[in-house]
Amino acid sequence: MSQHQHQTVDSIDSVGVVGAGTMGSGIAQVAATHGYDVIVRDIEQEYVENGFETIENSLGRLGDRDSLPDGEDTETIRNRIKGTTELDDLADCDLVVEAALEDLDVKRDVFADLDDIVGDEAVLATNTSTISITSIASATERPERVVGLHFMNPVPIMEGVEVVVGEKTTDEITELAHEFAEALEKTTWESDDKPGFVTNRILMPWINEGIRAYDEGVATKDDIDAGMELGTNVPMGPLTLADHIGLDICLHASETLHEELGDRYQPAYLLKRKVEAGELGKKTGKGFYEYE
Ligand code: NAD
Repeated sequence: MSQHQHQTVDSIDSVGVVGAGTMGSGIAQVAATHGYDVIVRDIEQEYVENGFETIENSLGRLGDRDSLPDGEDTETIRNRIKGTTELDDLADCDLVVEAALEDLDVKRDVFADLDDIVGDEAVLATNTSTISITSIASATERPERVVGLHFMNPVPIMEGVEVVVGEKTTDEITELAHEFAEALEKTTWESDDKPGFVTNRILMPWINEGIRAYDEGVATKDDIDAGMELGTNVPMGPLTLADHIGLDICLHASETLHEELGDRYQPAYLLKRKVEAGELGKKTGKGFYEYE
């Protein structure tokens, strides 16, 4: 293994994206919008072209709304992105974000191939929603340079990116992942490599409970969504959000979490314990946080 010099985000010029679907096309677009040379790979030319169509439509809408960075136009941004069906074409990329299917075997194959193709200094990131970063990383000989960069859908609109730290991911690469997302004008938070990370671990039971409440006749669909929106200040209720995410994606993610985490629907032990201790939240000055 070569000695890696301390690497900062300035060392990243060219970005590879694997998969030109919903997420891959969004990631490519946002990277190009922020000045990176991008190359997107999908398995069929038709899928690459679909990805470009998505990008052009989205750039067009953002351009119309004056939402592109100053001095940038849709044409210049579009021309920073190249498409390919050959993974080998990603050889010179400094950072690759994989956004292919949510399937461990597919991701492990992609990472094993990328490991052979890209340079020693390259960083390999995955956009997985639910799969262990550690198990993807172990398909490579550089697990310390593999990290989760979990973009949210739609990537050009959503501000947040979850950085997921695998068992062997180094602090340097974790830091680089944050800096890269910030260079794309995103705001990050960090999660350990535990099932569902922060977002889906909490979101999926919430959505499932909304679905069960509807199924059990607690309220109409509209009232369940209105209750959560108006009552808890989320921008979208669980049923509307599930529809936006895709019910198949929700089911797949829920099944993975169920397998990993089992029955999560009892009140959490810590919740009971804190109530017993009189730590009731803001009104007592202490719940999970402390208040003045
Ligand atoms: P998608 O089905 O829209 O796109 C996946 C693309 O990957 C397809 O075009 C497919 O042809 C391509 N592909 C499959 N195998 C490939 C390979 N070996 N090399 C290159 N391309 C390949 O899926 P998506 O919604 O964009 O999801 C991609 C990843 O992002 C998944 O891991 C998913 O869990 C994750 N994710 C999705 C969302 C979301 O809301 N859609 C949000 C966050 C994370």
